[in-house]
Amino acid sequence: MQDEHPTTYWSPLPDGRIRCDVCPRACSLHEGQRGLCFVRARRGDAIVLTTYGRSSGFCVDPIEKKPLDHFLPGTSVLSFGTAGCNLACRFCQNWDISKSRGTDTLADAAAPEAVAEAAVRLGCRSVAFTYNDPVIFLEYAIDVADACRERGIRAVAVTAGYVNVEPRRDLFAHMDAANVDLKAFTEDFYHRVCAGSLSPVLETLEYLRHDTDVWFEITNLLIPGLNDSDTELDAMTRWVVERLGPDVPMHFTAFHPDWKMLDRPPTPLATLSRAGRIATSNGVRYAYTGNVRDLEGQSTRCHGCGHLLIERNGYELGTWDLDADGRCGRCREPCAGVFEERPGRWGARRLPVRLGAA
Ligand code: SF4
Repeated sequence: MQDEHPTTYWSPLPDGRIRCDVCPRACSLHEGQRGLCFVRARRGDAIVLTTYGRSSGFCVDPIEKKPLDHFLPGTSVLSFGTAGCNLACRFCQNWDISKSRGTDTLADAAAPEAVAEAAVRLGCRSVAFTYNDPVIFLEYAIDVADACRERGIRAVAVTAGYVNVEPRRDLFAHMDAANVDLKAFTEDFYHRVCAGSLSPVLETLEYLRHDTDVWFEITNLLIPGLNDSDTELDAMTRWVVERLGPDVPMHFTAFHPDWKMLDRPPTPLATLSRAGRIATSNGVRYAYTGNVRDLEGQSTRCHGCGHLLIERNGYELGTWDLDADGRCGRCREPCAGVFEERPGRWGARRLPVRLGAA
Protein backbone atom coordinates (compact mmCIF):
# COMPACT_ATOMS: atom_id res chain seq x y z
CA MET A 1 0.00 0.00 0.00
CA GLN A 2 1.11 3.53 -0.64
CA ASP A 3 2.75 5.28 2.32
CA GLU A 4 2.28 8.86 1.07
CA HIS A 5 -1.23 10.17 1.37
CA PRO A 6 -2.73 13.53 0.36
CA THR A 7 -3.72 15.92 3.17
CA THR A 8 -5.98 18.96 3.28
CA TYR A 9 -4.86 21.10 6.20
CA TRP A 10 -2.25 23.39 4.68
CA SER A 11 -2.01 26.85 3.09
CA PRO A 12 0.34 28.37 0.52
CA LEU A 13 2.31 31.34 1.86
CA PRO A 14 3.27 34.47 -0.15
CA ASP A 15 6.97 33.59 0.12
CA GLY A 16 6.48 30.27 -1.68
CA ARG A 17 6.51 28.06 1.38
CA ILE A 18 3.53 25.91 2.38
CA ARG A 19 2.32 26.02 5.96
CA CYS A 20 0.94 22.91 7.66
CA ASP A 21 -2.27 23.86 9.51
CA VAL A 22 -2.71 20.68 11.55
CA CYS A 23 -1.20 21.88 14.80
CA PRO A 24 -0.17 25.19 16.38
CA ARG A 25 3.43 24.62 15.40
CA ALA A 26 2.54 25.84 11.89
CA CYS A 27 5.58 24.38 10.12
CA SER A 28 6.26 26.35 6.92
CA LEU A 29 7.98 24.13 4.42
CA HIS A 30 10.11 24.47 1.32
CA GLU A 31 10.08 21.71 -1.28
CA GLY A 32 11.31 18.43 0.22
CA GLN A 33 11.20 19.60 3.84
CA ARG A 34 9.42 17.79 6.64
CA GLY A 35 7.59 19.28 9.61
CA LEU A 36 8.80 18.95 13.20
CA CYS A 37 6.67 15.82 13.53
CA PHE A 38 8.74 14.38 10.66
CA VAL A 39 5.77 12.51 9.17
CA ARG A 40 4.19 15.39 7.22
CA ALA A 41 6.28 16.59 4.30
CA ARG A 42 6.05 18.92 1.35
CA ARG A 43 5.75 17.31 -2.06
CA GLY A 44 5.41 19.87 -4.83
CA ASP A 45 2.54 22.21 -4.05
CA ALA A 46 1.05 20.16 -1.25
CA ILE A 47 1.75 18.51 2.08
CA VAL A 48 1.49 14.74 2.34
CA LEU A 49 1.36 12.28 5.20
CA THR A 50 4.33 9.94 4.76
CA THR A 51 3.28 7.20 7.17
CA TYR A 52 -0.20 6.32 5.94
CA GLY A 53 -0.88 2.61 6.37
CA ARG A 54 2.27 1.89 8.37
CA SER A 55 2.58 1.11 12.03
CA SER A 56 5.40 0.81 14.54
CA GLY A 57 3.65 -2.28 15.89
CA PHE A 58 0.43 -3.65 17.28
CA CYS A 59 -0.37 -4.93 20.73
CA VAL A 60 -3.53 -6.08 22.45
CA ASP A 61 -3.68 -4.24 25.78
CA PRO A 62 -6.14 -3.82 28.63
CA ILE A 63 -8.14 -0.62 28.01
CA GLU A 64 -7.03 0.48 31.50
CA LYS A 65 -3.50 0.85 30.13
CA LYS A 66 -4.43 3.80 27.87
CA PRO A 67 -5.43 4.81 30.63
CA LEU A 68 -9.22 4.70 30.42
CA ASP A 69 -10.89 3.46 33.61
CA HIS A 70 -14.49 4.39 32.77
CA PHE A 71 -14.71 3.12 29.20
CA LEU A 72 -15.68 -0.55 28.79
CA PRO A 73 -13.61 -1.68 31.81
CA GLY A 74 -11.85 -5.01 31.53
CA THR A 75 -12.00 -5.13 27.73
CA SER A 76 -9.07 -5.44 25.36
CA VAL A 77 -7.97 -2.77 22.91
CA LEU A 78 -5.84 -3.19 19.80
CA SER A 79 -3.16 -0.52 20.26
CA PHE A 80 -0.89 0.90 17.65
CA GLY A 81 1.10 3.95 16.68
CA THR A 82 3.18 5.17 13.79
CA ALA A 83 6.27 7.38 14.16
CA GLY A 84 7.02 10.99 15.08
CA CYS A 85 5.37 13.57 17.36
CA ASN A 86 4.41 17.24 17.21
CA LEU A 87 5.71 18.03 20.69
CA ALA A 88 9.29 17.70 21.85
CA CYS A 89 8.94 16.76 25.51
CA ARG A 90 12.29 16.34 27.20
CA PHE A 91 10.82 13.61 29.41
CA CYS A 92 9.22 11.60 26.57
CA GLN A 93 8.38 8.11 27.84
CA ASN A 94 7.94 6.72 24.29
CA TRP A 95 10.88 8.37 22.58
CA ASP A 96 11.93 5.37 20.47
CA ILE A 97 8.68 5.82 18.53
CA SER A 98 7.97 9.53 18.85
CA LYS A 99 11.50 10.56 17.89
CA SER A 100 11.82 8.04 15.10
CA ARG A 101 13.28 9.65 12.02
CA GLY A 102 13.09 6.73 9.68
CA THR A 103 10.87 3.99 8.45
CA ASP A 104 12.83 1.45 10.48
CA THR A 105 10.23 1.56 13.23
CA LEU A 106 7.34 1.31 10.76
CA ALA A 107 7.64 -2.39 10.25
CA ASP A 108 4.01 -3.35 10.03
CA ALA A 109 1.97 -2.54 6.90
CA ALA A 110 -1.69 -2.16 7.82
CA ALA A 111 -4.53 -0.90 5.64
CA PRO A 112 -7.44 0.50 7.69
CA GLU A 113 -9.65 -2.50 6.89
CA ALA A 114 -6.89 -4.89 7.96
CA VAL A 115 -6.58 -3.14 11.34
CA ALA A 116 -10.34 -3.31 11.89
CA GLU A 117 -10.50 -6.97 10.81
CA ALA A 118 -7.64 -7.79 13.18
CA ALA A 119 -9.49 -6.12 16.06
CA VAL A 120 -12.56 -8.25 15.31
CA ARG A 121 -10.50 -11.41 15.00
CA LEU A 122 -8.66 -10.75 18.26
CA GLY A 123 -11.86 -10.05 20.19
CA CYS A 124 -10.97 -6.40 20.91
CA ARG A 125 -13.78 -3.96 21.62
CA SER A 126 -11.78 -0.97 20.50
CA VAL A 127 -8.72 0.19 18.60
CA ALA A 128 -6.42 2.83 20.15
CA PHE A 129 -4.16 5.29 18.38
CA THR A 130 -1.42 5.51 20.95
CA TYR A 131 2.37 5.35 21.49
CA ASN A 132 2.53 8.53 19.42
CA ASP A 133 -0.07 11.22 18.75
CA PRO A 134 -2.80 10.54 16.15
CA VAL A 135 -3.00 14.30 15.49
CA ILE A 136 0.01 13.97 13.18
CA PHE A 137 -1.41 10.99 11.28
CA LEU A 138 -5.04 12.01 11.48
CA GLU A 139 -5.98 10.97 7.91
CA TYR A 140 -4.88 7.40 8.65
CA ALA A 141 -6.43 7.41 12.13
CA ILE A 142 -9.76 8.60 10.71
CA ASP A 143 -9.82 5.91 8.02
CA VAL A 144 -9.00 3.22 10.59
CA ALA A 145 -11.67 4.58 12.96
CA ASP A 146 -14.28 4.50 10.18
CA ALA A 147 -13.37 0.92 9.22
CA CYS A 148 -13.63 -0.03 12.89
CA ARG A 149 -16.98 1.61 13.46
CA GLU A 150 -18.40 -0.26 10.43
CA ARG A 151 -17.57 -3.43 12.32
CA GLY A 152 -18.82 -2.33 15.75
CA ILE A 153 -15.33 -1.61 17.07
CA ARG A 154 -14.82 1.70 18.93
CA ALA A 155 -11.99 4.12 18.28
CA VAL A 156 -9.80 5.63 21.01
CA ALA A 157 -7.36 8.53 20.64
CA VAL A 158 -4.49 8.91 23.09
CA THR A 159 -3.35 12.44 22.47
CA ALA A 160 -1.67 15.54 23.84
CA GLY A 161 -4.52 17.60 22.35
CA TYR A 162 -2.08 19.96 20.61
CA VAL A 163 -4.13 20.54 17.48
CA ASN A 164 -5.82 23.34 15.55
CA VAL A 165 -9.56 23.92 15.42
CA GLU A 166 -10.54 22.28 12.11
CA PRO A 167 -8.39 19.15 12.31
CA ARG A 168 -9.53 18.83 15.94
CA ARG A 169 -13.14 18.75 14.84
CA ASP A 170 -12.33 16.31 12.06
CA LEU A 171 -10.33 13.90 14.22
CA PHE A 172 -12.73 13.71 17.15
CA ALA A 173 -15.81 13.34 14.96
CA HIS A 174 -14.50 9.83 14.30
CA MET A 175 -13.53 8.93 17.89
CA ASP A 176 -15.53 7.31 20.67
CA ALA A 177 -13.11 7.93 23.51
CA ALA A 178 -9.89 9.76 24.26
CA ASN A 179 -7.24 10.13 26.86
CA VAL A 180 -5.77 13.62 26.78
CA ASP A 181 -2.37 14.30 28.26
CA LEU A 182 -2.43 17.51 30.29
CA LYS A 183 1.29 17.77 30.88
CA ALA A 184 1.26 20.69 33.31
CA PHE A 185 -0.78 23.78 34.06
CA THR A 186 1.64 26.53 33.11
CA GLU A 187 2.60 27.99 29.76
CA ASP A 188 6.16 28.08 31.04
CA PHE A 189 6.34 24.29 31.40
CA TYR A 190 4.87 23.67 27.94
CA HIS A 191 7.25 26.21 26.46
CA ARG A 192 10.46 25.13 28.21
CA VAL A 193 9.97 21.40 28.55
CA CYS A 194 7.74 20.48 25.58
CA ALA A 195 8.41 23.26 23.06
CA GLY A 196 4.66 23.80 22.86
CA SER A 197 1.90 25.77 24.54
CA LEU A 198 -0.84 25.03 27.05
CA SER A 199 -3.78 27.01 25.70
CA PRO A 200 -4.54 24.80 22.63
CA VAL A 201 -4.64 21.78 24.96
CA LEU A 202 -7.16 23.46 27.25
CA GLU A 203 -9.22 24.38 24.18
CA THR A 204 -9.21 20.73 23.10
CA LEU A 205 -10.45 19.66 26.54
CA GLU A 206 -13.25 22.23 26.51
CA TYR A 207 -14.15 21.26 22.96
CA LEU A 208 -14.41 17.59 23.88
CA ARG A 209 -16.55 18.33 26.91
CA HIS A 210 -18.96 20.83 25.40
CA ASP A 211 -19.11 20.02 21.69
CA THR A 212 -18.77 16.24 21.38
CA ASP A 213 -20.01 12.98 22.85
CA VAL A 214 -16.49 11.58 23.08
CA TRP A 215 -15.83 9.98 26.46
CA PHE A 216 -12.51 11.31 27.71
CA GLU A 217 -10.17 11.11 30.66
CA ILE A 218 -7.11 13.20 31.53
CA THR A 219 -3.57 12.05 32.27
CA ASN A 220 -1.16 14.26 34.18
CA LEU A 221 2.39 12.87 34.40
CA LEU A 222 3.96 14.32 37.54
CA ILE A 223 7.68 15.10 37.43
CA PRO A 224 9.33 15.82 40.79
CA GLY A 225 10.09 19.53 41.17
CA LEU A 226 8.75 20.51 37.73
CA ASN A 227 4.96 20.31 37.72
CA ASP A 228 3.99 18.73 41.04
CA SER A 229 3.51 21.71 43.38
CA ASP A 230 0.35 22.04 45.46
CA THR A 231 -0.27 25.40 43.81
CA GLU A 232 -0.17 24.04 40.28
CA LEU A 233 -2.22 20.96 41.10
CA ASP A 234 -4.78 23.12 42.87
CA ALA A 235 -5.08 25.48 39.89
CA MET A 236 -5.29 22.61 37.39
CA THR A 237 -7.94 20.64 39.21
CA ARG A 238 -10.02 23.74 39.96
CA TRP A 239 -9.96 24.53 36.25
CA VAL A 240 -10.99 20.98 35.37
CA VAL A 241 -14.01 21.08 37.67
CA GLU A 242 -15.05 24.61 36.67
CA ARG A 243 -14.66 24.14 32.91
CA LEU A 244 -15.18 20.43 32.39
CA GLY A 245 -17.27 19.41 35.39
CA PRO A 246 -16.59 16.89 38.17
CA ASP A 247 -17.03 13.71 36.10
CA VAL A 248 -13.86 13.73 34.00
CA PRO A 249 -11.52 11.13 35.52
CA MET A 250 -7.98 12.31 36.19
CA HIS A 251 -4.95 10.01 36.21
CA PHE A 252 -1.90 11.25 38.11
CA THR A 253 0.91 9.09 36.80
CA ALA A 254 4.51 8.48 37.79
CA PHE A 255 7.45 9.74 35.74
CA HIS A 256 10.49 7.53 35.13
CA PRO A 257 13.76 9.15 34.03
CA ASP A 258 13.91 8.87 30.25
CA TRP A 259 15.05 10.51 26.98
CA LYS A 260 16.61 13.91 27.79
CA MET A 261 15.44 14.03 31.38
CA LEU A 262 17.63 11.69 33.35
CA ASP A 263 18.39 14.09 36.21
CA ARG A 264 15.04 13.77 37.99
CA PRO A 265 14.07 10.90 40.30
CA PRO A 266 11.02 8.71 39.66
CA THR A 267 7.82 10.14 41.11
CA PRO A 268 7.05 8.72 44.57
CA LEU A 269 3.60 7.30 45.26
CA ALA A 270 3.16 9.97 47.96
CA THR A 271 3.17 12.68 45.27
CA LEU A 272 0.52 10.91 43.21
CA SER A 273 -1.63 10.38 46.30
CA ARG A 274 -1.24 14.06 47.24
CA ALA A 275 -2.37 15.08 43.76
CA GLY A 276 -5.39 12.80 44.11
CA ARG A 277 -6.32 14.40 47.44
CA ILE A 278 -6.05 17.91 46.00
CA ALA A 279 -8.18 16.90 43.02
CA THR A 280 -10.80 15.31 45.22
CA SER A 281 -10.94 18.28 47.57
CA ASN A 282 -11.57 20.52 44.54
CA GLY A 283 -14.47 18.35 43.42
CA VAL A 284 -12.94 15.86 40.94
CA ARG A 285 -15.02 12.72 41.50
CA TYR A 286 -12.61 10.18 40.02
CA ALA A 287 -8.90 10.71 40.70
CA TYR A 288 -6.46 7.85 40.09
CA THR A 289 -2.78 7.13 40.50
CA GLY A 290 -0.90 5.52 37.60
CA ASN A 291 2.36 3.72 36.71
CA VAL A 292 2.54 2.38 40.28
CA ARG A 293 0.89 -0.40 42.28
CA ASP A 294 -1.82 1.22 44.39
CA LEU A 295 -5.00 -0.78 44.92
CA GLU A 296 -6.91 1.97 46.71
CA GLY A 297 -5.67 4.77 44.46
CA GLN A 298 -6.72 2.93 41.31
CA SER A 299 -10.11 1.60 42.33
CA THR A 300 -13.37 3.41 41.60
CA ARG A 301 -15.62 4.45 44.46
CA CYS A 302 -19.13 5.88 44.25
CA HIS A 303 -18.95 9.64 44.56
CA GLY A 304 -22.29 9.56 46.37
CA CYS A 305 -21.79 6.99 49.14
CA GLY A 306 -18.14 5.89 48.89
CA HIS A 307 -19.04 2.30 48.01
CA LEU A 308 -16.39 0.30 46.09
CA LEU A 309 -17.65 0.04 42.48
CA ILE A 310 -14.64 -1.28 40.55
CA GLU A 311 -11.59 -2.71 42.24
CA ARG A 312 -8.32 -2.61 40.27
CA ASN A 313 -5.12 -4.39 41.12
CA GLY A 314 -2.83 -3.09 38.41
CA TYR A 315 -4.82 -3.86 35.27
CA GLU A 316 -6.73 -6.74 36.89
CA LEU A 317 -10.31 -6.04 37.89
CA GLY A 318 -11.64 -7.44 41.14
CA THR A 319 -14.92 -6.45 42.80
CA TRP A 320 -17.54 -5.04 40.39
CA ASP A 321 -20.70 -3.46 41.79
CA LEU A 322 -22.27 -1.37 39.05
CA ASP A 323 -25.72 -2.25 37.78
CA ALA A 324 -26.59 -2.61 34.09
CA ASP A 325 -27.10 1.16 33.81
CA GLY A 326 -23.74 2.03 35.37
CA ARG A 327 -25.22 2.93 38.77
CA CYS A 328 -23.80 2.23 42.21
CA GLY A 329 -24.93 -1.19 43.46
CA ARG A 330 -25.63 0.29 46.89
CA CYS A 331 -27.10 3.80 46.50
CA ARG A 332 -27.94 3.80 42.71
CA GLU A 333 -26.02 7.00 42.07
CA PRO A 334 -24.81 7.00 38.43
CA CYS A 335 -21.10 6.55 37.82
CA ALA A 336 -19.95 8.58 34.81
CA GLY A 337 -18.58 6.56 31.90
CA VAL A 338 -19.36 3.97 29.26
CA PHE A 339 -20.25 0.74 31.01
CA GLU A 340 -21.94 -2.53 30.18
CA GLU A 341 -23.69 -4.97 32.46
CA ARG A 342 -20.52 -6.91 33.09
CA PRO A 343 -16.83 -6.03 32.86
CA GLY A 344 -14.58 -7.61 30.26
CA ARG A 345 -12.26 -10.43 31.21
CA TRP A 346 -9.07 -9.51 29.39
CA GLY A 347 -7.08 -8.94 32.57
CA ALA A 348 -3.54 -7.53 32.58
CA ARG A 349 -2.20 -9.35 29.51
CA ARG A 350 -0.21 -7.65 26.74
CA LEU A 351 -0.18 -9.53 23.46
CA PRO A 352 2.08 -8.19 20.66
CA VAL A 353 0.70 -9.04 17.20
CA ARG A 354 1.97 -8.73 13.62
CA LEU A 355 -0.56 -7.73 11.00
CA GLY A 356 1.38 -8.01 7.79
CA ALA A 357 4.79 -8.26 6.26
CA ALA A 358 6.68 -5.01 5.68
S1 SF4 B 1 1.43 18.42 12.28
FE1 SF4 B 1 3.64 18.26 11.99
S2 SF4 B 1 4.09 19.39 10.11
FE2 SF4 B 1 2.04 19.97 10.78
S3 SF4 B 1 2.36 21.85 12.00
FE3 SF4 B 1 2.34 20.13 13.43
S4 SF4 B 1 4.50 19.51 13.66
FE4 SF4 B 1 4.38 20.82 11.84
